Parts: sequence; C-alpha cells; structure tokens
Amino acid sequence: MRSLVDDVKDRLDVTEVVAGYVKLTNAGSNMRGLCPFHREKTPSFMVSKEKQIFHCFGCGKGGDVITFIEEIEGLDFKEALRLLAERAGLDYRKYQVSAGGQSDAPDNKETLRRALEATTVFYQKQLDFNEGLKAKNYLAGRALTGKSIQEFRLGYAPRADDKGYPAALFSHLRGLGFSPQAIVASGSVYKKDNQAAYVDRFRERIIFPVADSLGRVVGFSARLLPGSDSQQGKYINTPGTILYDKGGLFYGFHLAKQAIREKGEVVMLEGNLDVILSHQSGVCQAVATCGTALGKKQLTTLCRYTQKLILAFDADMAGVKATKRAAELAWEEDLDVKVIPIKTGQDVADIVKEDPQKWAKMVEKKKSLAGYFFNLGFKNRVLSLDQKKTLADKLLKLFASIPSRVEQSHYLKRLAEEVQVPEEYFWEKIKQNQRKNHQYTKTQPAPEKTSGKKSRSILLEERLIGLIFNYPKLFFKYRERFNRTAFESEVVKRIYQDIKKILDKMSPDLVKSQDINFESRELQLKVAEIALEVEKDLGPDPDENREKAEQELKICFAALEKEFLKNQRFQLLKEIKMASINGDKNQMESLMERLQTVSKEIAR
Ligand SMILES: [Zn+2]
Repeated sequence: MRSLVDDVKDRLDVTEVVAGYVKLTNAGSNMRGLCPFHREKTPSFMVSKEKQIFHCFGCGKGGDVITFIEEIEGLDFKEALRLLAERAGLDYRKYQVSAGGQSDAPDNKETLRRALEATTVFYQKQLDFNEGLKAKNYLAGRALTGKSIQEFRLGYAPRADDKGYPAALFSHLRGLGFSPQAIVASGSVYKKDNQAAYVDRFRERIIFPVADSLGRVVGFSARLLPGSDSQQGKYINTPGTILYDKGGLFYGFHLAKQAIREKGEVVMLEGNLDVILSHQSGVCQAVATCGTALGKKQLTTLCRYTQKLILAFDADMAGVKATKRAAELAWEEDLDVKVIPIKTGQDVADIVKEDPQKWAKMVEKKKSLAGYFFNLGFKNRVLSLDQKKTLADKLLKLFASIPSRVEQSHYLKRLAEEVQVPEEYFWEKIKQNQRKNHQYTKTQPAPEKTSGKKSRSILLEERLIGLIFNYPKLFFKYRERFNRTAFESEVVKRIYQDIKKILDKMSPDLVKSQDINFESRELQLKVAEIALEVEKDLGPDPDENREKAEQELKICFAALEKEFLKNQRFQLLKEIKMASINGDKNQMESLMERLQTVSKEIAR
C-alpha cells in the first residue's frame, strides 16, 4: 500500500512549495535563493527539482518537501504532512497508518484545536445577541467594518449562562461533548480552587482570537467591554497552553504573512485593534505581539519572512522604551529597522478612523530608527552642553549596534556636530565598548553545520557515494574497487548496499540516477544531500563532467586507502608500545616488520 508520504511527494513539487516562501532563481539544473533559516547575503540555499530536496550550504539545513514545511511553519512531522496532503488534494483520513507507523488516532492537540474552534464560533455568534450587541456597537464605534469583524473572527464572551452561572462557554462546550479536562486544557475555562465549579475565564469581554501562522485558533485576547465593572485588567489573555505560546505568536500573522512577503516588510503595532484597522486601511503587513514585549523568538520567526521591521509604538514613555528595546534586539539580529513616529495620545486605530489614507502614507514615509531617536533627543529642545553630552553618550550606546556601517557613520557625524566634538571621539568610544564586550560575551557562533565533526574517511566515503549516484556508469567500471572498500560509516554502508542492489540488476548503458530509489526516506534524503554537494562542485550535466568525476573518484579511492593505512599504522604503534611494556620480543619484531610495510605503502 502506498503511504501518504509517497503520495504527497508525488503530487507536490518541492520547488513550487519552497517558491511560496523563498524567492528562487535558476542555477543550472537547480534553483537557488536566500536561505530562510539563517541570515545571508549571497544565496547558498539550493532546491533540486530532480532530487526533490532542498539544502542550505550555509547552515546545513536540508530535507524534502515535508521537512521544509516542518521547519518553516514550525510544525511537527504529522502536522506538516497533513498540511501538504490538504494542499495536494489528498484525504489524509483515508490513509490508515501514519508515516511514523503509529495509528492516526486524534491526539490531544487535535481535541484542543476542535475545542478552540468551537469556542471561537460560540463567541462569534454572541455578537448578535443581548449584551453582545453592545460589543458590536463598540466595535462599530471604533470604525471596524463587518468584513473586518468576520475576517478576524471577533466575538463576545457573555457574563453568564441561562441559569446565571459564570460558565456560558463551559456549558456550551460540554453540550458539544467536550470533556471538562479538554475544556480546561484549552485555556478558556478554569476550575475554582477547592470547588467543583468551572468558570469561564473571559466574561463580558470582546474576544480577539489569536491564531498560529496557519490560521488555526490557539488562544484568545479579551478586552473588557467599556462600561462593565470587572475588577480585572483591560486585557486578559489565554494562559500558556500546549498550543498557546505567546512568546512565539503574533496577532494577525496568518492574515499578514502574504503581504509581509510581498512588501518585504512587517509593521509591528501595539494593539489588536490597531492591527485590524491597519489591515482595513490596506496596510496588511501589520501584526502585533500578544501582550508581551517583542522577543528573540518572535524575531526569529519574522526573519524567515522579511529582514525589514517597521516599529509603530506610541510616543509615550512606555512606547519609547518598547521601541528602544525592540530596536536593540532587532539590530542584534541584523534586521533593518525603521520607525513610524506616532503623536503622543494617538494610536493607529484613531489615525485610521480619522483617515485611512493617512495611515498608509505614514507607513510609506517611515523613518530611520536612528534618526527617530536623534530627533527625539535633540529636536526642538534647548539643552546645556552637559545635558547634550549625557544624551550623546546614551545615543552612542544605541547607535553602536546599527548593523549598517553607512547609517552608523551618518549618525555619529550628526552626533559629533550636535555636541561639537570630533567624530573620532565617538568611533574610539564604540571601539572601546566593543573590546569590553568581547571580554565578557562571546561573539555569535557561526551556524552549526549538521555534518558536525566527521572523520576524513567518512567525508571521503560520502563523496564516493555522491559520485556514483550522480555518475552511476562509473560504478560498473570500478565495481571491483568498490567491493573491496570497507566503509567506516554505517549510513554510507547502507546506502552503498542499496545502490549496489539496484545497479547490479541494470545495464551500464542505460542506467540513470533517477532509477536509484531507496526504501528508506532517511537514506534517500541523505543521498540527495550528498549528491547535491557533488553536483554543486562538478556541475549539473553528468555527460559533460564524467571525466572530472572519474578523476575525483580515483583521488577519493587513493585517499581512502591512505586513511586506512594510516589507521593501521596507528594501531600497530599502539600494539608495539604494549609489546615493549610486556617485554615480548618476538611479538615486537613481527609488529615492526608490519609497520615497515605499512609505512612504505603510505609513502608510495
Ligand atoms: Zn541556511
């Protein structure tokens, strides 16, 4: 029986799927682009249509179409497979056994997802009844259109159920057959201490569902309905659950990601309403953090989509602080950061309500972040020279992390003019700081290659496998030599046995790499990766480069033999040492003789 993995891979072309995320250009028989998994300026991310794999020669990430979706969407294998199955028009429920060999029984996450979906629908419906109408009025008053309310799936959480218990959602979900445990695990209901009663977490609140990058609801952000007398904060959120990890989520991301890719930038806002109204005004590349400051994990997610971050936080103290923090983090990640200055007391929602065009224009006229801080400090302010110097020192600390040298130099110059000291003074200070920092913090380590530390023999063995995979005709010419080779790497050994089994049955004149298929997905991927590396070095056309390949094959064999001999010599030396300790003269002599032979072989 065919597996879902096979069918998915048959129906979907890895280059097309990847092209939905990464801009690819032709590079010989492969496609090439900037790696979405690490930051780079020259593309080392390759996608092979023929081998149906991707591989980054910069950071070592690689795999097939399923691996790619796992990595880029942050899904596990099963989830990625389902997503792709849907895209390929396959019904995954028809496949009895999942790729991992386990049965596809609905897991915990699946139940939570269904509960969250049912919860969302429940809240949405409430907008048309009783108290919910007040919420709807409020949203209309903030200039939200019905379309936006639909698109962002806004809703209302009622105060109580029909009997007056604060558990309207809970009874609804129970009625749908969800267990109390599942309902609590989804985060929208909690159990009161020492009591049997379950209580809805959100009551009398406007509900903003928070979704993952695929648009599946994972939690909620709930705003108090103006006029209600709750003791709790204006906003409360779903607490951390197995699906809701606020540090890795953005509000509105699933609706923004397409625009983020197309415009090559992301606009970071503070509030949920800001995001919705921004989308409503046509600025759809806007998202907000979920009740947290912008963190490293979120920036990593963003980096997969764009390198340009535009911050639009309030101009109040908190807003400036947040902007500064975000800037430092983003600069550290090498992002290009711009800012949209917003007047104190205003928020994006107000601006859009007033004039939707105006917001779009403000986004277009975004400013350099360094310039924003510069103006914030010096523009329209009368400062004493001392005050200026203190300010300059503060700004210098910030400007030290601007990744662009050109921009940095521009602002150091302006700073020097403002405080009337030579520019060199600031450069010297930056250098001093860097020296100091180096003593304490290590510079960021280079992305770790997955290959790790391999012995030279294993690298040579892999190269041999890559060569016969790309140039299978060579196998027949060197069959004897291959058979004599004892592979050190277990994986290479298994790959070689598979290749041999296939090639032994074929005629040398007709054989093509495409005919070599492996039973194990793991081996298939490994071979493709090795073969891609060979292809990158030797060129894509097997007929054109056969001579080069044959030459390399010979070199590899020779080097492998030498490695083998060196290992032997090493072993012999150890044995000789042991024999000398034991005073075994006969043994010593015979070992020395063997050592001589081996040494001669090596020198040959
Ligand atoms: Zn990479």
